Amino acid sequence: MKRSAAKIVIAKNTGFCKGVKRAVQITERTLAENPGRNVYSLGPVIHNSEAMRKLSGLGLKVAKSVAGIPEGSVLILPSHGTPESVITVAAGKRLKLVDVTCPHVASVKRICRDLCARGRKVVIIGEAEHAEIKALKDSAPGCIIIENEEQVPEGLFTSGKIGIISQTTQSKDRFLGIVGVILKKNPLVKEVDICNTVCRDSAGRQEEAKKLAAQVELMLVIGSATSANTRRLAEIGASVNGNTHLVEKPAGNLADKVKGTRSIGVISGASTPSWLIEEVIGCIKENA
Ligand code: SF4
Repeated sequence: MKRSAAKIVIAKNTGFCKGVKRAVQITERTLAENPGRNVYSLGPVIHNSEAMRKLSGLGLKVAKSVAGIPEGSVLILPSHGTPESVITVAAGKRLKLVDVTCPHVASVKRICRDLCARGRKVVIIGEAEHAEIKALKDSAPGCIIIENEEQVPEGLFTSGKIGIISQTTQSKDRFLGIVGVILKKNPLVKEVDICNTVCRDSAGRQEEAKKLAAQVELMLVIGSATSANTRRLAEIGASVNGNTHLVEKPAGNLADKVKGTRSIGVISGASTPSWLIEEVIGCIKENA
């Protein structure tokens, strides 16, 4: 392999987080233990297209809904959670359910239920269309989802009690910023429970991405564009270093991007496998 002239700084927080690692291990074990049987996942088990391609190669089939899954199949419920209503439908069919929801995501579901039980209107700060938020919504009927400061309603909570939680992969700074705007626009709210449910792994990667992006000429975030935490890292990197790029795999114009660059920072999303990171780093070393 050619010796790279560039200084390559690899973040400490790369590769699978604990929740994703656990989900992939259980999925691989389930496939190995059920030879010849249909094993489906409800949507992708994790948000990384290359890792999902590998699981498909081991025999995993990905279903868009429970409706088309034949009875007698194994159904894996993904790491980012599943709406209760969907679990009820799946449980009503003759399917063997294997739930690989990340324990942290499961704990946020419990927080939602607890807030509702204590009469709080739940406010979720996150992306309405993300699978995790769709799953959480079911645990907090009537909740409000807020994606950015502009969406914060004025005077809506003036006489109520509210509980604010975050998507687990949200930027901690954005979460706290939106909480501030909610309180400012709703000064008469009676009681507020603020639950910082940003996952520790996500928060750690965000801090590291910010620091690393400020030190290098080029910042690369390895992961899929479908992964919320990967997109967040790319946004945070870009906020301090305009030369920040999301890299899905060692292809496309990666070679051109790194050519002639003196320092390159590398971090990955929580659902990016280490073998893919090694392949991307190999490509960087070949071309920088
Ligand atoms: S990023 Fe956090 S919440 Fe998401 S799967 Fe990993 S450990 Fe769980």
